[in-house]
Amino acid sequence: MTTTMENQLTSQQAIELENNYGAHNYHPLPVVLAKGEGVYVWDVDGKRYYDFLSAYSAVNQGHCHPKITNALINQAKELTLTSRAFYNDSLGLYEKFVTEYFGFDKVLPMNTGAEAVETAIKLCRKWAYEKKGIAENEAQIIVCNNNFHGRTTTIISFSNDPDARKNFGPYTSGFICVEYDDLSALEKAIQQKNIAGFLVEPIQGEAGVYVPSEGYLSKAKALCEANNVLFIADEVQTGIARTGKLLACDYENVHPDILILGKALSGGVYPVSAVLASNEIMEVIKPGQHGSTFGGNPLAAKVAIAALEVIEEENLAENTYRLGEIFRKEINKLVNEFDLVKAVRGKGLLNAILINDTEDSSTAWDICIKLRDNGLLAKPTHGNIIRFAPPLVMNEEQLLDCVSIIRKTILEF
Ligand SMILES: *Cc1c(COP(=O)(O)O)cnc(C)c1O
Repeated sequence: MTTTMENQLTSQQAIELENNYGAHNYHPLPVVLAKGEGVYVWDVDGKRYYDFLSAYSAVNQGHCHPKITNALINQAKELTLTSRAFYNDSLGLYEKFVTEYFGFDKVLPMNTGAEAVETAIKLCRKWAYEKKGIAENEAQIIVCNNNFHGRTTTIISFSNDPDARKNFGPYTSGFICVEYDDLSALEKAIQQKNIAGFLVEPIQGEAGVYVPSEGYLSKAKALCEANNVLFIADEVQTGIARTGKLLACDYENVHPDILILGKALSGGVYPVSAVLASNEIMEVIKPGQHGSTFGGNPLAAKVAIAALEVIEEENLAENTYRLGEIFRKEINKLVNEFDLVKAVRGKGLLNAILINDTEDSSTAWDICIKLRDNGLLAKPTHGNIIRFAPPLVMNEEQLLDCVSIIRKTILEF
Protein backbone atom coordinates (compact mmCIF):
# COMPACT_ATOMS: atom_id res chain seq x y z
CA MET A 1 0.00 0.00 0.00
CA THR A 2 1.33 3.43 -0.81
CA THR A 3 0.84 6.06 1.87
CA THR A 4 2.96 8.84 0.45
CA MET A 5 0.08 10.59 -1.29
CA GLU A 6 -1.42 12.43 1.62
CA ASN A 7 -5.22 12.70 1.70
CA GLN A 8 -5.51 10.15 -1.09
CA LEU A 9 -6.21 7.19 1.16
CA THR A 10 -9.26 5.08 0.52
CA SER A 11 -11.47 4.24 3.50
CA GLN A 12 -10.14 0.72 3.46
CA GLN A 13 -6.52 1.89 3.54
CA ALA A 14 -7.12 4.33 6.38
CA ILE A 15 -8.87 1.66 8.44
CA GLU A 16 -6.12 -0.86 7.78
CA LEU A 17 -3.44 1.61 8.85
CA GLU A 18 -5.20 2.26 12.16
CA ASN A 19 -5.73 -1.43 12.64
CA ASN A 20 -2.13 -2.34 11.93
CA TYR A 21 -0.28 0.44 13.71
CA GLY A 22 -2.61 1.73 16.41
CA ALA A 23 -3.59 0.19 19.72
CA HIS A 24 -7.07 -1.28 19.52
CA ASN A 25 -8.48 0.75 22.39
CA TYR A 26 -11.51 1.95 20.42
CA HIS A 27 -14.09 0.26 18.20
CA PRO A 28 -14.87 2.99 15.64
CA LEU A 29 -17.87 2.98 13.36
CA PRO A 30 -16.49 2.16 9.90
CA VAL A 31 -16.42 5.62 8.35
CA VAL A 32 -13.28 7.61 7.55
CA LEU A 33 -13.72 11.35 7.88
CA ALA A 34 -11.66 13.92 6.07
CA LYS A 35 -13.46 17.23 6.56
CA GLY A 36 -15.86 19.00 8.88
CA GLU A 37 -17.87 22.21 8.80
CA GLY A 38 -20.62 23.21 11.20
CA VAL A 39 -23.02 20.30 11.72
CA TYR A 40 -21.53 18.30 8.82
CA VAL A 41 -18.59 15.98 8.27
CA TRP A 42 -17.44 14.45 4.98
CA ASP A 43 -15.75 11.09 4.42
CA VAL A 44 -12.78 10.48 2.14
CA ASP A 45 -15.13 9.87 -0.80
CA GLY A 46 -16.86 13.21 -0.31
CA LYS A 47 -20.07 11.77 1.15
CA ARG A 48 -21.66 14.18 3.64
CA TYR A 49 -23.05 13.24 7.05
CA TYR A 50 -24.73 14.96 9.96
CA ASP A 51 -22.45 14.50 12.96
CA PHE A 52 -24.67 13.31 15.83
CA LEU A 53 -21.84 12.65 18.25
CA SER A 54 -19.91 15.94 18.09
CA ALA A 55 -16.75 14.20 19.35
CA TYR A 56 -18.53 13.32 22.60
CA SER A 57 -19.83 16.90 22.90
CA ALA A 58 -16.48 18.59 22.28
CA VAL A 59 -17.63 20.18 19.03
CA ASN A 60 -20.64 22.04 20.43
CA GLN A 61 -19.75 25.14 18.39
CA GLY A 62 -19.69 23.10 15.16
CA HIS A 63 -16.76 21.72 13.19
CA CYS A 64 -13.96 24.12 12.28
CA HIS A 65 -15.79 27.19 13.53
CA PRO A 66 -13.99 30.05 11.72
CA LYS A 67 -13.76 32.28 14.79
CA ILE A 68 -12.13 29.52 16.84
CA THR A 69 -9.80 28.22 14.13
CA ASN A 70 -8.73 31.81 13.39
CA ALA A 71 -7.92 32.32 17.06
CA LEU A 72 -5.78 29.18 16.87
CA ILE A 73 -4.01 30.20 13.65
CA ASN A 74 -3.35 33.78 14.76
CA GLN A 75 -1.94 32.76 18.12
CA ALA A 76 0.07 29.92 16.57
CA LYS A 77 1.99 32.52 14.57
CA GLU A 78 2.90 34.49 17.72
CA LEU A 79 3.58 32.17 20.64
CA THR A 80 2.43 28.63 21.39
CA LEU A 81 4.08 27.52 24.60
CA THR A 82 6.12 29.08 27.34
CA SER A 83 5.36 26.62 30.13
CA ARG A 84 4.30 28.19 33.41
CA ALA A 85 7.94 28.84 34.27
CA PHE A 86 7.28 32.29 32.75
CA TYR A 87 4.23 34.50 32.43
CA ASN A 88 2.61 34.93 29.02
CA ASP A 89 0.38 37.67 27.67
CA SER A 90 -2.64 35.40 26.98
CA LEU A 91 -3.18 33.32 30.12
CA GLY A 92 -4.17 36.13 32.47
CA LEU A 93 -6.72 37.46 29.98
CA TYR A 94 -8.23 33.99 29.66
CA GLU A 95 -8.27 33.44 33.43
CA LYS A 96 -10.15 36.70 33.97
CA PHE A 97 -12.52 35.89 31.11
CA VAL A 98 -13.34 32.30 32.11
CA THR A 99 -13.78 33.00 35.84
CA GLU A 100 -16.15 35.90 35.14
CA TYR A 101 -17.98 33.85 32.50
CA PHE A 102 -18.79 31.06 34.95
CA GLY A 103 -18.86 33.10 38.18
CA PHE A 104 -15.85 31.72 40.07
CA ASP A 105 -12.85 33.39 41.74
CA LYS A 106 -10.08 31.27 40.29
CA VAL A 107 -9.31 28.77 37.53
CA LEU A 108 -6.66 26.07 37.30
CA PRO A 109 -6.00 25.35 33.62
CA MET A 110 -5.31 21.81 32.38
CA ASN A 111 -5.65 20.05 29.01
CA THR A 112 -7.86 16.96 29.04
CA GLY A 113 -11.03 16.18 30.97
CA ALA A 114 -9.41 13.37 32.94
CA GLU A 115 -6.60 15.69 34.03
CA ALA A 116 -9.14 18.23 35.23
CA VAL A 117 -10.98 15.53 37.21
CA GLU A 118 -7.65 14.45 38.75
CA THR A 119 -6.95 18.08 39.59
CA ALA A 120 -10.35 18.46 41.26
CA ILE A 121 -9.73 15.32 43.34
CA LYS A 122 -6.34 16.60 44.50
CA LEU A 123 -7.80 20.02 45.25
CA CYS A 124 -10.67 18.52 47.23
CA ARG A 125 -8.36 16.30 49.27
CA LYS A 126 -5.95 19.11 50.07
CA TRP A 127 -8.83 21.36 51.09
CA ALA A 128 -10.12 18.56 53.34
CA TYR A 129 -6.81 18.30 55.20
CA GLU A 130 -5.92 21.96 55.37
CA LYS A 131 -9.34 23.60 55.77
CA LYS A 132 -11.79 21.00 57.01
CA GLY A 133 -9.33 19.33 59.37
CA ILE A 134 -9.61 15.73 58.20
CA ALA A 135 -6.63 13.61 59.34
CA GLU A 136 -4.02 13.10 56.62
CA ASN A 137 -4.74 10.26 54.15
CA GLU A 138 -8.25 9.71 55.57
CA ALA A 139 -10.30 11.83 53.14
CA GLN A 140 -13.11 10.09 51.27
CA ILE A 141 -14.83 11.34 48.13
CA ILE A 142 -18.33 10.10 47.31
CA VAL A 143 -18.88 9.13 43.67
CA CYS A 144 -21.83 7.59 41.80
CA ASN A 145 -22.49 4.19 40.38
CA ASN A 146 -22.06 4.04 36.57
CA ASN A 147 -19.97 7.22 36.60
CA PHE A 148 -17.65 8.20 33.78
CA HIS A 149 -14.90 10.68 34.66
CA GLY A 150 -12.04 9.61 32.38
CA ARG A 151 -9.36 6.99 32.00
CA THR A 152 -6.51 7.61 34.45
CA THR A 153 -5.55 5.06 37.07
CA THR A 154 -7.21 6.91 39.95
CA ILE A 155 -10.38 7.64 38.00
CA ILE A 156 -10.91 4.08 36.82
CA SER A 157 -10.34 2.97 40.42
CA PHE A 158 -13.81 4.27 41.26
CA SER A 159 -15.51 3.13 38.04
CA ASN A 160 -17.78 0.11 38.12
CA ASP A 161 -17.48 -0.58 34.40
CA PRO A 162 -15.56 -3.88 34.10
CA ASP A 163 -14.01 -2.86 30.75
CA ALA A 164 -12.66 0.35 32.26
CA ARG A 165 -11.35 -1.37 35.41
CA LYS A 166 -10.45 -5.01 34.98
CA ASN A 167 -6.73 -5.82 35.20
CA PHE A 168 -5.73 -2.19 35.69
CA GLY A 169 -5.35 -2.57 39.45
CA PRO A 170 -4.12 -2.05 42.15
CA TYR A 171 -6.66 0.69 42.60
CA THR A 172 -6.54 4.06 44.33
CA SER A 173 -8.54 4.10 47.57
CA GLY A 174 -10.49 6.95 49.13
CA PHE A 175 -13.75 6.70 47.21
CA ILE A 176 -17.24 5.65 48.31
CA CYS A 177 -19.70 4.73 45.59
CA VAL A 178 -23.43 5.42 45.94
CA GLU A 179 -26.38 4.92 43.61
CA TYR A 180 -26.90 7.84 41.20
CA ASP A 181 -30.09 9.87 41.66
CA ASP A 182 -30.58 8.42 45.14
CA LEU A 183 -30.61 11.14 47.80
CA SER A 184 -31.05 8.81 50.74
CA ALA A 185 -27.96 6.82 49.67
CA LEU A 186 -26.03 10.09 49.44
CA GLU A 187 -27.37 11.25 52.80
CA LYS A 188 -26.28 8.02 54.46
CA ALA A 189 -22.81 8.14 52.91
CA ILE A 190 -22.26 11.81 53.63
CA GLN A 191 -22.80 11.28 57.36
CA GLN A 192 -19.82 8.94 57.58
CA LYS A 193 -16.51 10.22 58.90
CA ASN A 194 -13.93 12.01 56.75
CA ILE A 195 -16.09 12.89 53.77
CA ALA A 196 -14.38 15.60 51.72
CA GLY A 197 -16.40 15.83 48.51
CA PHE A 198 -19.18 14.56 46.30
CA LEU A 199 -18.17 14.15 42.63
CA VAL A 200 -21.11 13.95 40.24
CA GLU A 201 -22.13 14.30 36.59
CA PRO A 202 -25.31 16.42 36.37
CA ILE A 203 -26.44 14.00 33.64
CA GLN A 204 -24.59 10.69 33.25
CA GLY A 205 -23.58 10.92 29.59
CA GLU A 206 -21.42 7.85 28.95
CA ALA A 207 -23.65 5.63 31.06
CA GLY A 208 -26.44 6.30 28.53
CA VAL A 209 -27.70 9.84 29.16
CA TYR A 210 -29.28 9.25 32.57
CA VAL A 211 -31.11 12.39 33.64
CA PRO A 212 -31.58 12.47 37.43
CA SER A 213 -34.93 13.37 39.02
CA GLU A 214 -35.75 17.04 39.27
CA GLY A 215 -34.38 18.39 42.54
CA TYR A 216 -31.61 15.80 42.84
CA LEU A 217 -28.77 18.23 42.18
CA SER A 218 -30.08 21.04 44.37
CA LYS A 219 -30.83 18.69 47.26
CA ALA A 220 -27.47 16.99 46.88
CA LYS A 221 -25.84 20.43 46.99
CA ALA A 222 -27.80 21.26 50.16
CA LEU A 223 -26.66 17.98 51.76
CA CYS A 224 -23.07 18.87 50.89
CA GLU A 225 -23.42 22.33 52.40
CA ALA A 226 -24.98 20.99 55.59
CA ASN A 227 -22.05 18.59 56.03
CA ASN A 228 -19.20 20.85 54.91
CA VAL A 229 -18.55 18.62 51.91
CA LEU A 230 -17.47 20.02 48.52
CA PHE A 231 -19.97 19.59 45.67
CA ILE A 232 -17.84 18.82 42.61
CA ALA A 233 -19.66 18.95 39.26
CA ASP A 234 -18.08 17.16 36.31
CA GLU A 235 -19.58 19.17 33.44
CA VAL A 236 -16.98 18.04 30.91
CA GLN A 237 -19.78 16.60 28.74
CA THR A 238 -22.89 18.43 30.01
CA GLY A 239 -21.36 21.92 30.16
CA ILE A 240 -20.94 24.72 27.62
CA ALA A 241 -24.60 24.87 26.48
CA ARG A 242 -24.93 21.16 25.59
CA THR A 243 -28.06 20.65 27.71
CA GLY A 244 -29.75 23.93 26.79
CA LYS A 245 -28.24 26.01 29.60
CA LEU A 246 -24.64 27.14 29.95
CA LEU A 247 -24.23 24.45 32.61
CA ALA A 248 -26.55 21.55 33.38
CA CYS A 249 -26.34 22.62 37.05
CA ASP A 250 -28.05 25.89 36.04
CA TYR A 251 -31.36 24.00 35.70
CA GLU A 252 -31.41 23.77 39.50
CA ASN A 253 -29.53 26.98 40.24
CA VAL A 254 -26.69 24.99 41.74
CA HIS A 255 -23.33 26.72 41.98
CA PRO A 256 -20.78 23.92 42.44
CA ASP A 257 -17.90 24.36 44.88
CA ILE A 258 -15.65 22.92 42.21
CA LEU A 259 -16.58 22.97 38.51
CA ILE A 260 -14.79 20.73 36.00
CA LEU A 261 -14.89 21.67 32.29
CA GLY A 262 -13.26 20.26 29.17
CA LYS A 263 -14.34 19.11 25.71
CA ALA A 264 -16.32 22.07 24.25
CA LEU A 265 -14.26 24.56 26.25
CA SER A 266 -12.14 24.65 23.09
CA GLY A 267 -14.91 23.89 20.58
CA GLY A 268 -13.03 20.69 19.81
CA VAL A 269 -10.11 22.56 18.30
CA TYR A 270 -7.47 21.84 20.93
CA PRO A 271 -7.40 20.03 24.30
CA VAL A 272 -8.40 22.58 26.94
CA SER A 273 -9.81 21.76 30.37
CA ALA A 274 -10.33 23.75 33.52
CA VAL A 275 -11.08 23.49 37.22
CA LEU A 276 -12.92 26.44 38.71
CA ALA A 277 -13.36 27.20 42.41
CA SER A 278 -13.48 29.95 45.04
CA ASN A 279 -10.37 31.61 46.49
CA GLU A 280 -11.01 29.78 49.75
CA ILE A 281 -10.64 26.42 48.01
CA MET A 282 -8.08 27.21 45.32
CA GLU A 283 -5.63 28.85 47.72
CA VAL A 284 -4.63 25.46 49.18
CA ILE A 285 -2.59 24.80 46.01
CA LYS A 286 0.80 26.49 46.23
CA PRO A 287 3.71 26.71 43.77
CA GLY A 288 5.17 23.34 42.91
CA GLN A 289 2.22 21.35 44.22
CA HIS A 290 0.39 20.80 40.93
CA GLY A 291 0.99 21.63 37.29
CA SER A 292 1.10 20.77 33.62
CA THR A 293 3.60 21.78 30.95
CA PHE A 294 0.86 22.57 28.44
CA GLY A 295 -1.86 23.70 30.87
CA GLY A 296 -2.75 27.35 30.30
CA ASN A 297 -0.59 27.78 27.21
CA PRO A 298 -1.28 30.79 24.95
CA LEU A 299 -2.91 28.72 22.20
CA ALA A 300 -5.29 27.11 24.67
CA ALA A 301 -6.07 30.48 26.25
CA LYS A 302 -6.97 32.17 22.95
CA VAL A 303 -8.91 29.20 21.64
CA ALA A 304 -10.98 28.89 24.82
CA ILE A 305 -11.88 32.60 24.86
CA ALA A 306 -13.06 32.35 21.24
CA ALA A 307 -14.98 29.12 21.92
CA LEU A 308 -16.85 30.67 24.86
CA GLU A 309 -17.56 33.86 22.93
CA VAL A 310 -19.17 31.79 20.16
CA ILE A 311 -21.53 30.20 22.71
CA GLU A 312 -22.75 33.65 23.74
CA GLU A 313 -22.67 35.44 20.39
CA GLU A 314 -24.67 32.71 18.65
CA ASN A 315 -27.09 32.14 21.54
CA LEU A 316 -26.25 28.46 21.48
CA ALA A 317 -27.79 27.66 24.89
CA GLU A 318 -31.17 29.10 23.81
CA ASN A 319 -31.00 27.40 20.40
CA THR A 320 -30.14 24.10 22.05
CA TYR A 321 -32.97 24.33 24.57
CA ARG A 322 -35.49 24.98 21.77
CA LEU A 323 -34.18 22.30 19.40
CA GLY A 324 -33.99 19.76 22.23
CA GLU A 325 -37.71 20.18 22.93
CA ILE A 326 -38.51 19.70 19.23
CA PHE A 327 -36.21 16.70 18.92
CA ARG A 328 -37.72 14.80 21.86
CA LYS A 329 -41.24 15.62 20.70
CA GLU A 330 -40.47 14.25 17.23
CA ILE A 331 -38.63 11.15 18.49
CA ASN A 332 -41.49 10.45 20.90
CA LYS A 333 -43.69 10.04 17.83
CA LEU A 334 -41.34 7.22 16.75
CA VAL A 335 -41.56 5.74 20.25
CA ASN A 336 -45.34 5.61 19.88
CA GLU A 337 -45.22 4.20 16.35
CA PHE A 338 -42.44 1.62 16.51
CA ASP A 339 -41.80 -1.14 19.03
CA LEU A 340 -38.09 -0.92 18.25
CA VAL A 341 -37.71 2.49 19.93
CA LYS A 342 -38.54 2.19 23.61
CA ALA A 343 -37.93 5.72 24.84
CA VAL A 344 -36.05 8.96 24.31
CA ARG A 345 -34.52 10.93 27.14
CA GLY A 346 -32.18 13.84 27.62
CA LYS A 347 -31.90 17.58 27.99
CA GLY A 348 -31.15 20.12 25.29
CA LEU A 349 -29.19 18.34 22.58
CA LEU A 350 -27.79 15.60 24.82
CA ASN A 351 -30.27 12.81 24.14
CA ALA A 352 -30.43 9.06 23.83
CA ILE A 353 -32.89 6.59 22.41
CA LEU A 354 -33.37 3.22 24.03
CA ILE A 355 -33.59 0.35 21.61
CA ASN A 356 -36.03 -2.38 22.46
CA ASP A 357 -33.71 -5.40 22.47
CA THR A 358 -31.50 -7.33 24.89
CA GLU A 359 -28.40 -5.56 26.25
CA ASP A 360 -25.99 -7.84 24.43
CA SER A 361 -27.69 -7.74 21.02
CA SER A 362 -26.07 -5.74 18.23
CA THR A 363 -29.26 -3.90 17.24
CA ALA A 364 -28.05 -0.44 18.34
CA TRP A 365 -24.80 -0.94 16.43
CA ASP A 366 -26.69 -2.18 13.35
CA ILE A 367 -28.95 0.86 13.48
CA CYS A 368 -25.89 3.13 13.66
CA ILE A 369 -24.48 1.44 10.53
CA LYS A 370 -27.79 2.08 8.71
CA LEU A 371 -27.88 5.66 10.01
CA ARG A 372 -24.41 6.07 8.53
CA ASP A 373 -25.60 4.77 5.17
CA ASN A 374 -28.46 7.26 5.37
CA GLY A 375 -26.11 10.17 6.16
CA LEU A 376 -26.10 10.52 9.95
CA LEU A 377 -23.31 9.48 12.34
CA ALA A 378 -24.10 8.31 15.87
CA LYS A 379 -22.62 5.74 18.21
CA PRO A 380 -24.14 3.31 20.72
CA THR A 381 -23.27 3.76 24.39
CA HIS A 382 -23.63 1.12 27.09
CA GLY A 383 -26.31 -1.44 26.35
CA ASN A 384 -28.75 -0.84 23.54
CA ILE A 385 -28.70 2.92 23.76
CA ILE A 386 -27.82 5.39 21.00
CA ARG A 387 -26.65 8.83 22.01
CA PHE A 388 -27.77 11.77 19.82
CA ALA A 389 -25.66 14.86 20.36
CA PRO A 390 -25.29 17.06 17.26
CA PRO A 391 -23.35 20.33 17.21
CA LEU A 392 -25.38 23.12 18.82
CA VAL A 393 -25.13 25.35 15.73
CA MET A 394 -27.82 23.24 14.08
CA ASN A 395 -30.97 24.95 12.82
CA GLU A 396 -34.54 23.68 12.95
CA GLU A 397 -34.67 22.67 9.29
CA GLN A 398 -31.51 20.57 9.65
CA LEU A 399 -32.85 19.01 12.84
CA LEU A 400 -36.08 17.97 11.13
CA ASP A 401 -34.05 16.58 8.24
CA CYS A 402 -32.16 14.47 10.80
CA VAL A 403 -35.41 13.30 12.38
CA SER A 404 -36.57 12.09 8.97
CA ILE A 405 -33.27 10.22 8.46
CA ILE A 406 -33.78 8.54 11.84
CA ARG A 407 -37.40 7.70 10.96
CA LYS A 408 -36.42 6.28 7.60
CA THR A 409 -33.69 4.18 9.26
CA ILE A 410 -35.99 2.78 11.94
CA LEU A 411 -38.46 1.86 9.18
CA GLU A 412 -35.79 -0.28 7.55
CA PHE A 413 -35.69 -2.57 10.63
C1 LIG B 1 -15.15 12.82 28.33
C2 LIG B 1 -15.35 12.98 29.79
C3 LIG B 1 -14.26 13.04 30.68
C4 LIG B 1 -12.84 12.81 30.23
O1 LIG B 1 -12.38 13.73 29.33
P1 LIG B 1 -11.09 13.38 28.42
O2 LIG B 1 -10.78 14.68 27.73
O3 LIG B 1 -11.48 12.29 27.50
O4 LIG B 1 -10.01 12.97 29.37
C5 LIG B 1 -14.52 13.27 32.02
N1 LIG B 1 -15.78 13.42 32.46
C6 LIG B 1 -16.85 13.34 31.65
C7 LIG B 1 -18.20 13.53 32.21
C8 LIG B 1 -16.67 13.11 30.29
O5 LIG B 1 -17.74 13.00 29.48
